[in-house]
Amino acid sequence: MDIAKLVRKNILQLKPYSSARHEFEGIADIYLDANENPFGDGLNRYPDPLQHAVKTRISQIKQVRESRIFLGNGSDEAIDLLIRIFCEPGEDHIIIMPPTYGMYRVAADISDVGVREVPLKFDYQPNVEGVLEAADKQSKLLFLCSPNNPTGNDIHPEHIEKLAGEFPGIVVVDEAYIDFSPRKSCTKMLADYPNLVVLQTFSKAWGMAGIRLGMAFASQEIIGLFNKVKPPYNISQLTQQRALKAMEHPESIEKIVEKLLTEKENLADALAEFDFVEIVHHSDANFLLVKVEDPRHLYRYLKDKGIIVRDRSRVHLCEGSLRITVGTPEENRRLINTLEQYRTVS
Ligand SMILES: *Cc1c(COP(=O)(O)O)cnc(C)c1O
Repeated sequence: MDIAKLVRKNILQLKPYSSARHEFEGIADIYLDANENPFGDGLNRYPDPLQHAVKTRISQIKQVRESRIFLGNGSDEAIDLLIRIFCEPGEDHIIIMPPTYGMYRVAADISDVGVREVPLKFDYQPNVEGVLEAADKQSKLLFLCSPNNPTGNDIHPEHIEKLAGEFPGIVVVDEAYIDFSPRKSCTKMLADYPNLVVLQTFSKAWGMAGIRLGMAFASQEIIGLFNKVKPPYNISQLTQQRALKAMEHPESIEKIVEKLLTEKENLADALAEFDFVEIVHHSDANFLLVKVEDPRHLYRYLKDKGIIVRDRSRVHLCEGSLRITVGTPEENRRLINTLEQYRTVS
């Protein structure tokens, strides 16, 4: 596949902004090149525009070459940049498979890029033939979320492989919840699929939604395009420092994930006991999609008791359902206690 043919012409021709830290990359004694304030504790300096130290560490942990890593201000920045790199406003479109993460559509809408929807099937797996039939030359991006938000399930790897092999554009696999899943990351497919982009984030298992750090893994060519269009200093110094610190002990994340998975099983079992709970969907993530008798009523009851869940009851294929994030053992216990009170009053 010729990736360059999929890229917007103005992006191919773009001469990117060249920042001071870009033009001089070595180590010097005195920096008088970036109009920074010379007084300060380090934060007076602009951060590394390509985040070399952070990427080196991510490269070791994820077993992906540094040249195949892009870092964004959350994965939401990577989603936005992908649309701006590949989709000509008013002409091209993306394909999404609802119910899924809302940002794909919003990012396309902001850029005046069309959205074709090929809904998931009733088992929440993709309609592979439907996607391939819906695709044409203007279908630049396919967004695939696994584990999927808000349904919680993994997309079967054979579906991902078929779509990556046969879709005529870029296939984006959003793995925001991959650390909770028994499935292996699609990063191992990068060598075989030049049109593949895998998104991950520090916002979920890593517990760092507040620092805003997302990762995109792709061919060196696609990473080059990301670097061409990104804002020069898109990852702050504070974010880079905190991410490096967290990655000193990646094994502590595994412990937390184990704990949350145990909590999820307990929560799922407890929820299934209530007679107003109709379905607790299987989840490969850190949340549960739960179909209940009167979702709006239950949502309001929980809210009045100080517990906020996500009401997905008006989303196609999620009718009647609430999405509940797995909390701490104390939080989950309070949720269950509150649901027991709800049962006696409703
Ligand atoms: C939470 C989430 C993200 C994370 O986005 P960030 O911008 O990295 O915080 C990405 N994709 C999906 C599907 C999510 O649910």
